[in-house]
Amino acid sequence: MSSDKPSRSLESTLVAAGRDTHPGAPLNRPLVPASNFVLGASRAYARDGGTPTWEALEEVVGELEGGRAVAFASGMAAIAAVFDQMRLGARVVIPDDCYQGVVGLAERGADKGFWSVERIDLEDTVAWVEACAGADLIWLESPSNPLLTVADLRTICAAPRKPGALLAVDNTFATPLNQQPLDLGADLSLQSATKFIGGHSDLLAGVIAVRSGELESALRRSRTLSGATPGALESFLAVRGARTMALRLERAQQSAGLLAQRLQTHPCVARVRYPGLASHPSHAIAADQLSGFGTIVTFDGVGDASTADAVCRRVRLIRHATSLGAVESSIERRGAIPGQEHLPSTLLRLSVGIENAEELWADLDQALRGA
Ligand SMILES: *Cc1c(COP(=O)(O)O)cnc(C)c1O
Repeated sequence: MSSDKPSRSLESTLVAAGRDTHPGAPLNRPLVPASNFVLGASRAYARDGGTPTWEALEEVVGELEGGRAVAFASGMAAIAAVFDQMRLGARVVIPDDCYQGVVGLAERGADKGFWSVERIDLEDTVAWVEACAGADLIWLESPSNPLLTVADLRTICAAPRKPGALLAVDNTFATPLNQQPLDLGADLSLQSATKFIGGHSDLLAGVIAVRSGELESALRRSRTLSGATPGALESFLAVRGARTMALRLERAQQSAGLLAQRLQTHPCVARVRYPGLASHPSHAIAADQLSGFGTIVTFDGVGDASTADAVCRRVRLIRHATSLGAVESSIERRGAIPGQEHLPSTLLRLSVGIENAEELWADLDQALRGA
């Protein structure tokens, strides 16, 4: 770790963290595809002791989130490591609108009798505060996927918790640039680095940032025992992606705001959900809590599921693909995904990338009109 442990801006951290600075060191931490190391030092085997390449990613994200980070093979591998901290009979609380992998993991554990699961409306701050008193794992995702609901994290994180309980925030949609969950009082902040950190749809990785050394060790232990270790190439690419994240986010977020505004008055659009719009139910809390409204815009087309599917087929510049947070814009109908049938059938989730905003608008417009 570099010696100048600095208080620098997040943009500079993205560029400067995770580098070696001694004379002769390569500017970028090298890709080290090692499983084992010559014995005699603290590091013997990668699954236990990590590699220099994974550590670069952990240093970047740790400094960005204001804590220490542990990198995993994917966002879900990181999430599974958090659930691995639970004892038999634990009480788990998750949001009503939540990443489907988390719902699947939580419900499968409940079916097996490992824990109980309660789902709470993200906007119902009172219910979350009450749940904090008795839950062992308080799982928050804000803004949520795909309805972009923003939870009052400041209030919920300040609520008294059961000793030993964990309050986790999935920070993937906000990114550490727009939201700092550890500062708000969360025990851990989690990223699917597959999304904004990687930013190019070419890797899977996950990272958890914490302030407690005990929790960091427990998560490392889970990673070692489950073998959910990040790949060398993936870690290298994630660091490479992180270097430009502030620029990518700034551009994409600006375009997302513009597209959300225009979609609101488009004749083929029934409803737009974007936290930056005054019409969004979470707008006030979003404006207070987030430093930016993000790059995801969710909207309901006029018509039915087949009309919405046709929009996805007609886009030319925008890709018809799942996932988010990449340089390329992508769109999908979320209700088409198994387990997401509770969503409006016409709901489209647009992840805005860094293409020319006017060309994105022209593409959306022609796809919506079916020209
Ligand atoms: C993608 C995603 C995950 C899971 O991450 P993977 O890297 O795909 O395993 C978790 N939470 C959110 C909000 C996501 O968007």
